[in-house]
Parts: sequence; C-alpha cells; structure tokens
Amino acid sequence: MSVTHAPQTADVLARQDPELAEILLGELDRQSSTLQLVAAENFCSPAVLAALGSPLANKYAEGYPGARHHGGCEIVDVAERLAVDRAKTLFGAEHANVQSHSGSSAVLAAYATLLRPGDTVLALGLPYGGHLTHGSPANFSGRWFDFVPYGVDAETGLIDHDQVRALARTHRPKAIVCGSIAYPRHIDYAFFREVADEVGAYLIADAAHPIGLVAGGAAPSPVPYADVVCATTHKVLRGPRGGMILCGSELAERVDRAVFPFTQGGAQMHTIAAKAVAFGEAATSAFTAYARQVVANARVLAAGLADEGFAVTTGGTDTHLVTADPAPLGVEGRTARGRLAAAGMVLDCCALPHADTRGLRLGTAAVTTQGMAEKEMTRIAALLAGVVRGEVESARAREEVRDLVGGFPPYPA
Ligand SMILES: *Cc1c(COP(=O)(O)O)cnc(C)c1O
Repeated sequence: MSVTHAPQTADVLARQDPELAEILLGELDRQSSTLQLVAAENFCSPAVLAALGSPLANKYAEGYPGARHHGGCEIVDVAERLAVDRAKTLFGAEHANVQSHSGSSAVLAAYATLLRPGDTVLALGLPYGGHLTHGSPANFSGRWFDFVPYGVDAETGLIDHDQVRALARTHRPKAIVCGSIAYPRHIDYAFFREVADEVGAYLIADAAHPIGLVAGGAAPSPVPYADVVCATTHKVLRGPRGGMILCGSELAERVDRAVFPFTQGGAQMHTIAAKAVAFGEAATSAFTAYARQVVANARVLAAGLADEGFAVTTGGTDTHLVTADPAPLGVEGRTARGRLAAAGMVLDCCALPHADTRGLRLGTAAVTTQGMAEKEMTRIAALLAGVVRGEVESARAREEVRDLVGGFPPYPA
C-alpha cells in the first residue's frame, strides 16, 4: 500500500524520512481498520490525493487568474479557472471563489463581504447545531458581531420557523445565517429567503455539510436563495480539505476581495487543483448514486439506532447526519463515545437541543464511499448499541469492526 497514492512521492518519503512515512502508514491503517463515522469526514479519491501531493504546492499565486502578484502563474491560472468553471456548472452558480482555505475562512469572507463589525446577525444557536463561526464567544464571529441565536422546537427538534421570523422582526439583523454542523434535516431555504426579504437582511447559507448532497442532487440547493453560500470541499463533497464561496455576479467582486486580499494571502494551488478534480468527480452519475446512497444509509442507521432505544433527534434524517441521545440506554454521550472509540468505532459527541448531556453525532459519507450499504448500516447500529450498553466487550467489538471494514478497504491496494 502506498502512502499517498502518488507512488513516486510515497517511495521518496519512505526512503528519505522513514519516521514520517511510518506515521502516514499508521494513519492509513487506522483509517482502514476502524469504522469512520465522523459526520464531517470522507475518503477523497487517489486522484484528489495526487493533486494535493503535486508540485502545484510550490507555486505562489496571490490574486486571481489573469491578475496575480507573482510571475509564472500562467499554468496555475488554468487550474483555478477550471476549478471555478466546474464549481459554477456543478452548482448552477453565477460566481464561485475556490480560494478559501477552510469552511471557517469562507464564512469569515462572507461576513467581510456583507457586514461591518457590530452588525446584528441571526443564526442557529450553538446548542442547536450552530458552528463556531455562527457567534461563539470563542470565535471572531462572537467577538466582532452581535449574534442573536434562533433554536429548534423542543418537541420536534426542527428549526423553529416562527421564532426565526419573530426574532428577525424584533432585531432587524443585517444578515441571517442558515446552516449547521448537526441538523439532520433539509433546510427550507425559501423560508429563510422570505424572512430575509421581509426585514431587509442578507441571507448567508453555510452549507458546509450538505453541499456534497446538493452536488449529487440529494438535497435542496441554497444557491437560488442565498446571497452568499459558504461551503467546505472535504465533507460529503469528498474533495480536499478547503472552502468555497458561491454567489451571484453582483457580489462576485466583493466576495473575491473579501477572500484576497482582505482575509487571506496566496492561494493554495495544489488544493485548488484538487478541488477541480473533486468537482469533476461530483459531476458524474456515479456521484449522484453515491449521494443518494449516503442518505439511504443514514436513514437505515437512524432507524436502527431508534430501534435499539436511542433518542434520535427529529426522529430520523434527510441527510448524511444522524444525532442521537444514548440517555435512554442509561449511558451519557461522552461515556458512549469512549466505549465506541475503544471498539474502533470513531464518531463525535455533540450538543443536544434542550438537554444538558451530550449526544452522539454520526455520518455516513465515509462508509458509503467505502461501498457499505443498508445491510452494513443495520449491522453497525446493532453493534454500536451493544458497545454503548457495555454488552459487547471492546476486544470482541474491535474484531467485528475489523471484519466489517475489512471487506470495504477505502484505498484498495
Ligand atoms: C465544517 C463546518 C464549518 C467549518 O469548516 P472548517 O473547514 O473546519 O473550517 C463551518 N460551518 C459549518 C456549518 C460546518 O459544518
């Protein structure tokens, strides 16, 4: 098995720096021999890894294609134009900026485009699945803007649309943010657009999680509704670690200036090339089938966990995301995660709406890339429940996980 799937690079690394090569192989082994249920993770393709490990990493390219501050950009300009064109086509957007280093950088640039420090912004509160960049006091967003949080209905777990409308009318925010790190249901972008229009606010969709489902036609697109769409390229979308911004042509120049020079320096051309590869992959019918399977798998996983007694938030899912409270099994979220980690089942804890304890957050993007389907989801739900209850000891659970993932190598040799 090669380290990076760019064989020459792998060989060079193994020869020159065996210490680091061993670390990379150790991580590849961890990813291949344990169960990857972290909702924000995926396995990008060998082609994406090859672009990431390419000499484009050497190139300084401040600015945009045709208007760079460095010499020798004529080739990387072609790569960035290709990434931009593919993103525009894939998402039906008038403009795409593919330079954001991460999802958080994309949100920062969106705020820099539309807001001034001190402006009021309405966003999903952190206890309900808002991201750090949606007003956390530990983040620039909470320090520089006046965030008003909306929440979810205590009964249904669904976004409280009445509250969103009421808060918008009371606080007259400059922008409304919709998007979440844990919300398992589709977001009603038309509703948010209507409220934004009523109070004269911008609408920012932070679609970091569902953008891959959007690309595969398995989730509604925020592009027709939001003024600015922020996203990551490494979650369900299965590209390199990075961010992206989509918008209409009227905001194109402002968005570009908000990314560079306002919040970033030189573009990372190897990552941008890898984004182009991922957008190309996401435009295929194979990816459409993948996105559909991701959701089908999450539905089976959610149903399986509900059958085992977990309190599944909103009773199910429309996406790749499932959040579940193990409390009915008599186990708290952190304890559950610890037991699962010991069994080789890797996932996150998350805040639960209207509860002091933590829940579990899982996603099906990675296991679906590996080729797992409904049958495996049922098996995972049962094993997961046994481990959380403490009925299956970790050594035996680890064996079962190895047996399960052994049939689905993420990077076949
Ligand atoms: C993942 C995520 C981000 C941040 O992405 P990073 O690449 O980790 O900075 C921002 N917003 C939402 C809603 C996310 O899910």
